[in-house]
Amino acid sequence: MKGYKFYEQVNAAFDEAAAYTKFDEGLLAQMKICNDVLHITFPLERDNGKIEVIEAWRVEHSHHKLPTKGGIRYSLTVNEDETMALAALMTYKCAVVDVPFGGAKGGIKIDKSKYSLEELERITRRYAFELMKKNFIGPGTDVPAPDYGTGAQEMGWILDTFRQMSTDINAEGCVTGKPIEMGGIRGRTEATGRGVYFGIKEACDNKDDMKELGLEHGIEGKTFVIQGLGNVGYHAALYMEEAGAKMVGVAEIDGSIYSKDGIDLAKLMEYKKETGGVKGFEGTETLADSSAVLESECDILIPAALENQINEGNADKIKAKIIGEAANGPTTANAHKIMKKRGALIIPDNYLNAGGVTVSYFEWLKNIQHVRFGRMGKRFEENSYKRILSVIETISDRKFTETELGTLAKGGGEAELVDSGLEETMINAYNQINELRKKHDVDLRTAAFINAINKVGLIYDRMGIFP
Ligand code: NAD
Repeated sequence: MKGYKFYEQVNAAFDEAAAYTKFDEGLLAQMKICNDVLHITFPLERDNGKIEVIEAWRVEHSHHKLPTKGGIRYSLTVNEDETMALAALMTYKCAVVDVPFGGAKGGIKIDKSKYSLEELERITRRYAFELMKKNFIGPGTDVPAPDYGTGAQEMGWILDTFRQMSTDINAEGCVTGKPIEMGGIRGRTEATGRGVYFGIKEACDNKDDMKELGLEHGIEGKTFVIQGLGNVGYHAALYMEEAGAKMVGVAEIDGSIYSKDGIDLAKLMEYKKETGGVKGFEGTETLADSSAVLESECDILIPAALENQINEGNADKIKAKIIGEAANGPTTANAHKIMKKRGALIIPDNYLNAGGVTVSYFEWLKNIQHVRFGRMGKRFEENSYKRILSVIETISDRKFTETELGTLAKGGGEAELVDSGLEETMINAYNQINELRKKHDVDLRTAAFINAINKVGLIYDRMGIFP
């Protein structure tokens, strides 16, 4: 990734879209810039007693809405430029899916596999403490979430650290993606991948757009290749498979595999757990290296690992007609141009992976409301449906079975309401950006940026610049 400037790439996409909006140059500059950039270093005592210096960041890109929101990444690739780029993407992503947060991002520069669980806990808690000391975390200030290399476990440690030092009644809302028992929400773990699926499905259901690509409409029967079988990649693949799409290729760190007859996801996950990788999985061909499979024959390519994976080196060899950007920044600006010229439909990251932040928003709402979604209405809904069904039974000869009653008279619990809210969000946002794409004759990425700039710009414009 040497020489790769992620923040510059995000800003280039912003500039391209800004030309289609009517905002003043100064206001556009304010929208692009990162409001606060925090670089921290702190000592870690390793299990063997040695001291090591840990480097970390938190960037709040835009305060036009509060709190700011964005994941925390654990990876050796973490640096200031990457964190700034990801924080900026968060602002635009939240705007595209109408989630009322400013963008932020955090990261710790570590290779997670080199530390014990106890060491990771010490690193995470110290990071949370540093954020708190500098006012970079809080339910109304800045709310982290999981990202590459982190999950519910780390979010739980962060909440616990925060709570030890705060009596805020809304403390649970200081972080999202927490374990359910600690105020998390059903559906958050799978949310990003589920959103990726809803987004790709919406694109595939558009008959005219699919005809332009020379594809049948609908997701069923389409072949796909996925890069990265982590949280996002695994869940995206799972829902794609459930909907009848066929996974023909997988890339992981250790290598990549292909089979035109399809790869069984559940069996592959078991194999990955046993062997630590995907190479050599039964019934598949192991390719030359981990990125080779990106170039293989398929309808949909889903990069779900890291940025800069589709670049000038491989863009012209990629055959997929649809690129579903599940990861943040997987395609460089030049690679985008190359694939667009060939007629590919690129569903951009700043829309497609917004399922995570959407459900994080629901979790935060649950935390500050102090009530689980569905608690007040579920039983009431069920009883109303049952009354309607019993009227139907009395005016007709139809007698519903217990199983039928169970499905027909089901009220919305937390899991159902979250899933339906996520689906609604992803469908609405896709149609908003697809309309803009057609109106301005641009690609979906530019359309998503136009959409975001218009929404964020209007707020800056209305609030004026305070002294
Ligand atoms: P993760 O750590 O759970 O999984 C990443 C997977 O990618 C791992 O299995 C890893 O082995 C694999 N990988 C890494 N480098 C690879 C390579 N070169 N080739 C093939 N596989 C490789 O991370 P995640 O949470 O799934 O995040 C993946 C991407 O999605 C990141 O870009 C992240 O910013 C983005 N994202 C995540 C969320 C979320 O809720 N977790 C939300 C929005 C966006």
